Amino acid sequence: MVCEIVCVGTEILLGDIVNTNAVYLSKKLAEMGISVLRQSVVGDNNSRLTEMLMQALERSDIVITTGGLGPTADDITRDKCCEVMQTELVLDEDIKNEIENYFSSKGLKMSESNIRQAYVPKDGVVLKNNNGTAPGFAIEKNSKCIIALPGPPREMKPMFEESAVEILKKYSTACFVSHNVKMIGIGESLMAENAADLLEGENPTVAPYAKDGECLLRITSSGETKEDAEKKALPVVDEVVNRFKEFVYAVDEENIETVLVKLLKKHGLKIALAESCTGGYAAKRITDISGASEVFDCGIVSYSNEIKNRVLGVRKEDLETYGAVSEEVARQMAEGVRTLGKADYGVGITGIAGPLSDATEKPVGLSFVAVSDEFSTECIKIMTGRKDRDYNRYVNGSRAFDAVRRKIIRRYEEQEEL
Ligand code: ATP
Ligand code: MG
Repeated sequence: MVCEIVCVGTEILLGDIVNTNAVYLSKKLAEMGISVLRQSVVGDNNSRLTEMLMQALERSDIVITTGGLGPTADDITRDKCCEVMQTELVLDEDIKNEIENYFSSKGLKMSESNIRQAYVPKDGVVLKNNNGTAPGFAIEKNSKCIIALPGPPREMKPMFEESAVEILKKYSTACFVSHNVKMIGIGESLMAENAADLLEGENPTVAPYAKDGECLLRITSSGETKEDAEKKALPVVDEVVNRFKEFVYAVDEENIETVLVKLLKKHGLKIALAESCTGGYAAKRITDISGASEVFDCGIVSYSNEIKNRVLGVRKEDLETYGAVSEEVARQMAEGVRTLGKADYGVGITGIAGPLSDATEKPVGLSFVAVSDEFSTECIKIMTGRKDRDYNRYVNGSRAFDAVRRKIIRRYEEQEEL
């Protein structure tokens, strides 16, 4: 059984809206074990939509459309689906009443064109729209199925979940599950190289991805039931976690700041941040997490050399000799803010976020991130090679959080294991 998605709307072709409906439907269909063969976009044009639907029906068993179900003249999906499935539209009195009630409950007058939405395919099933006026429908005929959903995502998604899923279930041959093992501190190619044997697997499949300076391996498996699929995925998830142990910070949803805040809370620890190039962005990410006050008292944005020296105690001569973007300065920032904030862990971040360099010869994307506790201070040198300010600042924060995470684990958790 294969399926394709046809999104109808000239707005999508013009680039005025992003085709999030296709993203949503593809994900949902994959989870249900229905293979999506193609995604297409077609404008609100009679002959092109007919042609697209005919071709789609020839190639695929199921065609799901979104958009073009509204009351206006350019909403043509209803007519065209009936045409290609060789059926006709008939007036549904119940839907007509519902649309009338919908408008009167909002104190609005219904226009004549809204009646168009009460016409439904003679050989079809109506899919109720609980969030708007245009109903969807499904037509199943000659071993083919068309499901038409409205364009607005807030109407389309509930209609899919509430009505379309039931119809689609009988076409599903398998259930799929996916897990993401998320890593920081290893590049995508090295990660893929070290997972080469796993990347060849078929069920589960393992695929590498990289985003925002992080990498992940996605493990996807299929089975007759969700539990079945889960059973196949889990040993491989465990294998990946063990193999990439030091780099792995989470499986599935959580981001690095959430993981770090939880870890600090778990051990009753506090963190203080001294930021130069990130300008408070790292502190923002920590305080985005509810309950951050338990682990975070103090963040300093020490943008100038003077503040680095006066507030954090970075030595003037080191600022002059090595420059603000240097290992020496990052270390002293981390140590200074740890003392100032009376924290267990101090972080110092200094770098050249770009797009332009500073007055030195140092390359854009160069940063130093230091982490200090009562026993030692460690520093990481980062070279992203990118002139993208947002990217560099994000990566600096993530690397700093991950460095603290690792230091805590080494001290509090690996000891326990021994
Ligand atoms: P309406 O009754 O609102 O006219 P409709 O079913 O006729 O609904 P369209 O007219 O095609 O749908 O699109 C209405 C709106 O829905 C668009 O302006 C857009 O905001 C959103 N939309 C349509 N298609 C998509 C899509 N593929 N992805 C994301 N949003 C979409
Ligand atoms: Mg419309």
